[in-house]
Amino acid sequence: MVAVALPRSLELVIALIAVLRAGGAYLPLDLEHPPERIAAIVRAADPTVVLADQDIGGAFGEALLTPVDWPLDGASPVVDQAGEDAAYVIYTSGSTGEPKGVLVEHRAIVNRLLWMQAEYGIGAHSRILQKTPAAFDVSVWEFFLALISGGELVVAPPDAHRDPAALAGLIRRHAVTDLHFVPSMLSAFLADPAAKGITVAHVFCSGEELPAELRDRFHQTVKAELHNLYGPTEAAVDVSYWAAGPEDRSRPVPIGRPVWNTRLVILDERLRPVAPGMGGHLHLGGVQLARGYLNRPDLTEDRFIPDPHHPGQRLYRTGDVARRRADGAVVYLGRSDHQVKIRGLRIELGEIEAAVIASGLARETVVLAREDRPGERRLIAYLVPAEGYDTAALKAALAARLPDYMVPAAIVALDALPTTSNGKLDRKALPAPVFEAGAGRAVETPTEKIIAELFAETLGRAEPAGADDDFFTLGGDSLLAVHLMMLIRERLGRDPGLGALFDRPRVAELAALIDAEALDFDNGLGVLIRLAEGDPTLPPLFLIHPAGGLSWGYRTLARALSPRRTVWGVQSPALDPKNALPDGIEALASVYVDHILALGTTGPVHIAGWSVGGVIAQAAAVELERRGVEVGLMAMLDSYPAECWRAEPEPDPVDALRALLAIAGYDPTQYPELRSRAAILAFLKAGDSALGGLPEAALDGVIRVVLDTNRLVREHHHQPFGGRTTHVCAALDHKDRDLKPGLWRPYAAELDVVEVPFLHPQLTGPAATALIAPALDVRMTAAEEKMR
Ligand code: AMP
Repeated sequence: MVAVALPRSLELVIALIAVLRAGGAYLPLDLEHPPERIAAIVRAADPTVVLADQDIGGAFGEALLTPVDWPLDGASPVVDQAGEDAAYVIYTSGSTGEPKGVLVEHRAIVNRLLWMQAEYGIGAHSRILQKTPAAFDVSVWEFFLALISGGELVVAPPDAHRDPAALAGLIRRHAVTDLHFVPSMLSAFLADPAAKGITVAHVFCSGEELPAELRDRFHQTVKAELHNLYGPTEAAVDVSYWAAGPEDRSRPVPIGRPVWNTRLVILDERLRPVAPGMGGHLHLGGVQLARGYLNRPDLTEDRFIPDPHHPGQRLYRTGDVARRRADGAVVYLGRSDHQVKIRGLRIELGEIEAAVIASGLARETVVLAREDRPGERRLIAYLVPAEGYDTAALKAALAARLPDYMVPAAIVALDALPTTSNGKLDRKALPAPVFEAGAGRAVETPTEKIIAELFAETLGRAEPAGADDDFFTLGGDSLLAVHLMMLIRERLGRDPGLGALFDRPRVAELAALIDAEALDFDNGLGVLIRLAEGDPTLPPLFLIHPAGGLSWGYRTLARALSPRRTVWGVQSPALDPKNALPDGIEALASVYVDHILALGTTGPVHIAGWSVGGVIAQAAAVELERRGVEVGLMAMLDSYPAECWRAEPEPDPVDALRALLAIAGYDPTQYPELRSRAAILAFLKAGDSALGGLPEAALDGVIRVVLDTNRLVREHHHQPFGGRTTHVCAALDHKDRDLKPGLWRPYAAELDVVEVPFLHPQLTGPAATALIAPALDVRMTAAEEKMR
């Protein structure tokens, strides 16, 4: 037996295959588990060798880490194996307090692999995604099915399995055909906009119940077959299957029919078959049953029992309750014991209770999985404290011994555990936990305020969190974390990544990180840049970027206003290559409104933009109105509705690139020879424009924003704005096209036109500004007076 302690990587795949070829069985160790737990498993399993690239917290000890010099003497190390040889050992939670190792033989897992290959037509065309951690048995088919079928194996980066957006990217990039989701992760995946429209051959669910509602939502979002598989680690991954296609109307979704060489048997307490349609204890028989629990004959004997109806054969007692429908399909009804599933992860509550007692800090305890909010199961430990009890110390003790998904989200200390009149534990009388928001500092910065609100929104709390509150202490788990990250992307237009939340789970820490990243990229590239500082009692003006995503071009206008007021330039988050391109102008406008309101702006909000910036300003005004925020000035500097562009031929990408020259302040018509990205970049870098001085990454950002603008505009459909639309028209331009301010009439409750004798590209220059600034000044002042 070879324990394998490697992160998901090509080396891991090679290690697993090598162990099997050399005649060994592999024991996958999860590097995310606490060292104490890993060490306990290594002690109990006693492998011949541990394959690792580091000793996690000293878990392996010296002997196991001694580098081995393998003799490569030319003889083939490949050993033939028999069906009854061990293939792998996977540890799972144990109710007695120790994890237990399930030993699975080759014939069991080979049956499962060959069945799947045949049932779903896996072959050379298949590209299977490996994303399940190796310590869970779903990973076994992910690792081997492509390789035994001539297909392709796509290995996800180590953390990607938790990150829906990263997964969607992987699936698209590698044209994945087959992949697995635990239903609750599937739910999170579908909720992410990145999942929309994904097309693959098969999505397999297993590990927990597949809700009918999720099946239906799946078929609205993703184009793929959906299959509900069922099975415990003790029977080589899955033993039954059900096609949950769009036409399947079953409620609940069945776990279906047995795979090859397998029996599903439903028995009563005394191991007699139940009447058809009746619920009973689900037992499994056939070739996929595990040999048993490693080095634990007692546990093996308890769960793997002689089949009373087929002498000489064995049955595995699953602990699941099930019934058979009239058509033969089996339906899962629940558990008959204290095993629970959280995000598909198998947890024996007894193991957590044993860990609580072993800490010496509690005299009695009971651990439950509560679902106080639908769809959110959380572990709660109730306990009667022992001498010297301390919540923080208990949490630390549990975290040292249990994987993080088994550490209770809340600990509730009681004087005594409630009992019923006959002295039994009264589970119903256990109070719902209160996740206390800390008494720490209140939130201050705009980013802190938004993060605090998003914490509350994600966790279903009425009150925003405080600056020192920790997402996970307040009841967050990694699924909710995915949701939070999505909201942060939506509201702040930034994506610090899921890992950042695990490192910095407090409001203030996370906000500081986001701000620092923004600043880092900043020096003029943040979403909001201050173009002018003015009277703080006057509402500021927000100027939305044109095609290039930058607002620098508004510097002249910003300083020409009188009375002087603070002017913010609003810039595209997509300038930062780390951020995704926006979904559309409406989504972008909504992100900008979030930023504007995050400054504490109460209204009237003055907003304007030149060219495409005017189109976005109009959408932002609609969004402000929708949110009940008063809009003061809404001005477009020579912008025209999307319809005018939709009918035009797609612009040449070179022309879009040449727009960079204009953004940098050059007249593109003077440089007809600059017709490639390289030539334009070289020209800009050699020049003295601010744009040319940008770092390479930022210039790339500008280019991607420029090239994306055309799509954004063409896909946009305007909504009417109920306030006044001010249109500053470049009266000398558009001689060859019918572009007139009146085109806005269908979307403007009131249209106010200011004509200036300039060309479109000249509007932000000093001469035009001398006319435009006063026109905007009077309109802003009038709007403010109206509000008073
Ligand atoms: P594991 O050993 O982690 O695969 O967990 C096996 C247990 O997960 C089963 O005994 C069931 O309780 C549960 N389970 C697995 N697949 C399903 C499914 N498709 N529907 C309902 N429960 C499932």
